[in-house]
Amino acid sequence: MTRRPKPGRIACVVPFCKRTAPRDPNDDANAEIICGGHKRLVDSGLRRLHRRVCRKVEGLEVCRANLGLAKTLFGIERRVWAKMKEQAIERAAGIA
Ligand SMILES: [Zn+2]
Repeated sequence: MTRRPKPGRIACVVPFCKRTAPRDPNDDANAEIICGGHKRLVDSGLRRLHRRVCRKVEGLEVCRANLGLAKTLFGIERRVWAKMKEQAIERAAGIA
């Protein structure tokens, strides 16, 4: 991330990658992306798991009754994303 992306866009998490994506103004939590090229370096099982957890989170109606489930799913999503990010950066750099 040597250059700062244009306003309204967010850069790929992999250093020196020039790919960007539009920032969603309604979703500030989602302020990171892994571009398509770098996402392909991540294990397919991990990508599928992330997609599955995201679908569950999106379909979840957060209310008092399922607050615990929501917290658990968000936690899983964050951990899986961190692992994906780690793999993408390490494999792009040729470390792993
Ligand atoms: Zn990238």
